[in-house]
Amino acid sequence: MNDIVNAPTTFQQAYVFDMDGTIYLGDHLLPGAKRMIEELRRREIPVRFLSNNPTKDPHQYVEKLARLGLPTEVSDISNTVVTTTNWLRANHPDATVFAISEEPLKRSLREAGIRLSEDPTEIDIVVASYDRQFDYRKLQIAFDAIWFHKRAFLVQTNPDRFCPFPGGRGEPDCAAITAAIEACTGTTCQVNLGKPSPVMLTAALEGLDVAVEDCVMVGDRLQTDIQMALDTGMGSACVLTGEATADDVAALDRAHRPTWVLDRIDRLIPASVWDELGWSDDDQ
Ligand SMILES: [Mg+2]
Repeated sequence: MNDIVNAPTTFQQAYVFDMDGTIYLGDHLLPGAKRMIEELRRREIPVRFLSNNPTKDPHQYVEKLARLGLPTEVSDISNTVVTTTNWLRANHPDATVFAISEEPLKRSLREAGIRLSEDPTEIDIVVASYDRQFDYRKLQIAFDAIWFHKRAFLVQTNPDRFCPFPGGRGEPDCAAITAAIEACTGTTCQVNLGKPSPVMLTAALEGLDVAVEDCVMVGDRLQTDIQMALDTGMGSACVLTGEATADDVAALDRAHRPTWVLDRIDRLIPASVWDELGWSDDDQ
């Protein structure tokens, strides 16, 4: 592992963090996360949080981060509830949408004036997402709207196969629902509104006057967090506390490797500053 791990030696202009597997796992902050975020804020360096998970809205993330000891402004958080709502409002404001989703996304779409329906004869867009109430009835509605009535197309909130849980478990995520609809209809999902889509980066950096190449995306997933950074010219740091392992990173060719690989998240604070702050690996 040692020859793959490398940390930045200077501060970046802004930091964009994935949350699950990067800042916390389940209901616990990962070691060093709190002091690292606090140190960046003390230096007035912008910090933003991003999640592909559409089962919560940004206000619910504010509550979760506060509960974990990291009070955060709602404007510093973006997720696929935000990007999906913004994309529909900007590109298909008059479309009738069937959202295979949990309540936070439906609530956000309704508040944005997007018309929701479960009637296949009037659905224009099927939105697949991470929906723990997904069932045969919903699959039938999507099938009828896309295949039988040949009027709807398919988009998805995020491409994740599963959502990681503590102890190595997980839950099937949006990719499983997208795949079920693609399998029965023969259609292909046309738009992805989560990482690695650059719409997520635009949402994260909104309001900041910084160049993308001077920012860093920090995450635990190579195919989403790190890929988005590679696609947009942003620096990237893969933290080995969630999905990706040192072996996964080592298996990539050089062009697909993250800029930095961290064994713990607070390595984002340059080692020279660790010395000034008196930090050690034993601290949380
Ligand atoms: Mg993650």
